[in-house]
Amino acid sequence: MRILGPLAARGAVPHALLFTGIDGIGKATTARALAMVLNCQAPLAAGEGRPWPDACGQCRSCRRIAAGLHPDVIQIQPEGTFFKISQIRGLLDVLALKPYEARYRMAILCDAQAMTAAAANALLKILEEPPARTILVLTAGGASDLLPTIVSRCQPVRFAPLDPSRIAERLTGAHAVDARDAVVVAALAGGSLAGALALARQGAVDHWRRRRDWLARLLPELEHQAPSVLLAVAEELARDGKRAGDSLELAKTWLRDRFVATLRPEWVVFGDRREDLRRLAPAERDSARWIWQIRRIQQAQRDLAANAAVRLTLESLVFDLARGGGASSGCN
Ligand SMILES: [Zn+2]
Repeated sequence: MRILGPLAARGAVPHALLFTGIDGIGKATTARALAMVLNCQAPLAAGEGRPWPDACGQCRSCRRIAAGLHPDVIQIQPEGTFFKISQIRGLLDVLALKPYEARYRMAILCDAQAMTAAAANALLKILEEPPARTILVLTAGGASDLLPTIVSRCQPVRFAPLDPSRIAERLTGAHAVDARDAVVVAALAGGSLAGALALARQGAVDHWRRRRDWLARLLPELEHQAPSVLLAVAEELARDGKRAGDSLELAKTWLRDRFVATLRPEWVVFGDRREDLRRLAPAERDSARWIWQIRRIQQAQRDLAANAAVRLTLESLVFDLARGGGASSGCN
C-alpha cells in the first residue's frame, strides 16, 4: 500500500492495475485492502502512525469486503488450468452494469497469466473502455507472463518477496503461530507469507526444526568427520527427497544468521536461537569461509532445482563443506 495508499487518498487510482510477484505474497489481499480504503464509510484520517488515510475495518462496507460478501468486489480465478472464455464474458456482463452500491467497484483477476488469447482479447475491451467507478486488478507472477497488449494498458505494481524476519513477525502476530515454528517456516517460505502459513499448518514444522538444530550442530564439525560419516550425513539429507533443498535453505539461513547476529541482531531470522547465535558469531577472519559456504550451498540448491541427482549433489556438497573451501579453519 506504500504506492497505492497516497493514490487512494487523492482519488487517483488507475482504472487497471497489474500486481506482480511470487505466489502468496499478498497481491489479492492488497487489492481487497485497496477496495476497503476506497469504499470505507468511516475512514481513519492520516496520523498516529498512518502516513495516509486507512479503512476502518468496522463499517458495513469494510466488513462485507473482508468477508468476501461485497457485491461490487468481484474476485475470479482460473477454473482449471485456464480462465474459461465464459468466465471473462460473465465478468464483462457484470461490469457493463452500474456498481450496486460501491463508490469504487473492484474486479480482481487472480493468476491473469492463465488467460487464453481469446480470454485476453475479450478482457482488452474493458481495458480500452473502462467502465465508470471500476478498478480492474490483475495479479500474475511477472509481467512477461501476460500479453504485451494487456500489460501496456495496466499500471504495474511489483511486490518484492517478504523478508523472512517480517514473515515470522506476521505469523506470530496476526496468525498466532508459535514463535519457534514461525521462524522455521519463514526461512523456508521463499518470501511468501501464504506459503509460510501453509507450511505452519501442514504439521511438518517439528521435522524442519529438528533438521535445523541438527544442521546447526553439524556444520561446524563437518571438517573433523571421517568420509563414512560425511556419506551418512548426505544420506540423511537425501531422505527428504524433493524437499532436500529445504534443509539447505535452513543451513544457509543459519550460517547467515551467525554472520549477522552481532552486526545486525535485528536481521536474525532464527530468533529462537538468538543467544546461541551471538555466542557462536564468527570471528572476522572467517567471513571468507562463511561467504564461500553460503555460495556452495546455493550452488547445490540450483543443481537440485535443475533436477540433478539428489544423493550425488548432496554428497558433493557435504564433502566440499567439510574441506572448508580453502579459507581459514577454526569456524566453530
Ligand atoms: Zn470502513
